[in-house]
Parts: sequence; C-alpha cells; structure tokens
Amino acid sequence: MLNKSHYDERMRIAILDGYVDEPTCLGVPPYISPYPRYLAGAAWSIDRDADVRYITIDDLRRGNVTIQELNVFDIVVVVAGMAVPGRYLSTYPAHPKEIRKYLEKVNRPVKILCGPAGRFGFGVAGGVKPREVRDVFDFVVKGDGEIFLKEFLKSREADPDTTRGDYTEVREYAVRGGGIVKQHPNYPDYIIAEIETYRGCPRSITGGCSFCIEPLKGLPVFREVKDIVAEISSLYRHGIRHFRIGNQPCIFSYRAID
Ligand code: SF4
Repeated sequence: MLNKSHYDERMRIAILDGYVDEPTCLGVPPYISPYPRYLAGAAWSIDRDADVRYITIDDLRRGNVTIQELNVFDIVVVVAGMAVPGRYLSTYPAHPKEIRKYLEKVNRPVKILCGPAGRFGFGVAGGVKPREVRDVFDFVVKGDGEIFLKEFLKSREADPDTTRGDYTEVREYAVRGGGIVKQHPNYPDYIIAEIETYRGCPRSITGGCSFCIEPLKGLPVFREVKDIVAEISSLYRHGIRHFRIGNQPCIFSYRAID
C-alpha cells in the first residue's frame, strides 16, 4: 500500500521497475540497476519536490500496489527489458504479457517505457523475436529514459529517440537519484547497486560480435572517475553498502584508448 503524499499538488511520478537483465547490466534483485536511479535524479533535477515513488513489478504481482494506486500518478515510467534472459534466485524480470496486463488498465498517467525493452524490445527467450507492448504506452523511449523524462517534465515535449552523447547530464542525476534506493523492498541489507563506468564497444566499427547488442550503443563513452566516486558516495550516504561495478562490457577496458 502506498502512503499518500502530504502535498497532493506535487508532481507524482512512479518508476515501475520491471527489472532489466543485459549482458552489461544487472537489475534483478538483489541488484538495482542505474536506470531507476538516473530517472529519479532527472525528475528531482527538474522539480526537487516531485513525489517520486519506486515500485517494483513484484509489488504489482503481490498486490502491494494496486492499479487504482498507479492511477493517481501523473507519470508512470516503466523500466524493463531482458536482453539476455537468465535464471534468477529471488524473482524474475517482467514479461511483456505482465506489462500489458497491468499497464493497459492504467489510464490516467502518462505512460512511458524505457530501458532495453524500449530500445530493443523484449527478448523473452534466447533467439525468440522480441514481443512488443508499444500500444500500451504513450511513449516508447528508444534513447535514454532520463534524458527523455527531463525534457518531458520541462516542456511536455521530448524526442524518445534522443541518446546522450556523453555522461555530462548523468553526472547530476546519478548523485541526486541515489536516494531512491531507500524505497527498494530489499533496502538496506539485501541490495546491491549496479554501477556504470562506460557503454559501447570499439568493435562496433566492424559490427561487433554477432551475439552481442553492445555495438548498437556505438563506440565506448566513458564516465569520469570522479563522477563514479560521487555516485557511489551518494549511494553510501543513503545507506547502500554493496556495490557491483558491472555496468560496462569489460572492466579491464575501462578508459582504454586502443
Ligand atoms: S567485444 Fe564488443 S561486441 Fe564483442 S562481446 Fe564484447 S562488447 Fe560485445
């Protein structure tokens, strides 16, 4: 059951985490991926009083959050997508049928899909053509969700295909959004923050390996060390004690120039 906001006039944004699973990013509990943290940071960078709630697909599965409660939000941002489906110990990523089942009944908020599901579709099993849920959403973000959300909150207009060229904007969002972890059901003891250091692959110039989606993100773009440290410091201040520096194709290639 969600607590009612003390300030009903505040912008209400739900980040519904359907859990991502990519070769370069873990987001199924006990991990929390950077996606919801960056989204929360983007929202709070535009409106520091915004009522941003972190909800998981398990909250819907278990009835902890109802469709009626989702309908009080102004915006529902769904983070989902399993580029490389695996086996999981505690729970499992949202299936497109689940997304459809829950989200098609949510009719008041603006509904946004981002994460790998927005960019690549749902890979529901290895080698199976991704199924789509596009018609359930107002916006399907092929670019970066936090960039889209920031622009949308500013002007109610945004290009869902906009992809950040570097980490300049993420610098602020990663720090601001750290506080969202306190809403994770596993907080504080059984949660691991996935940390991003870079994305992209040098082999993208030749198409890369046939089984891998990383070349679709282009050549490597690296985060600054001080930005990574600032994010980890923020998360630590918010009570996170477990980190995985795993959100990149290869940690040994971090900042490699050849
Ligand atoms: S070298 Fe590049 S394309 Fe090949 S597996 Fe690694 S990240 Fe993917």
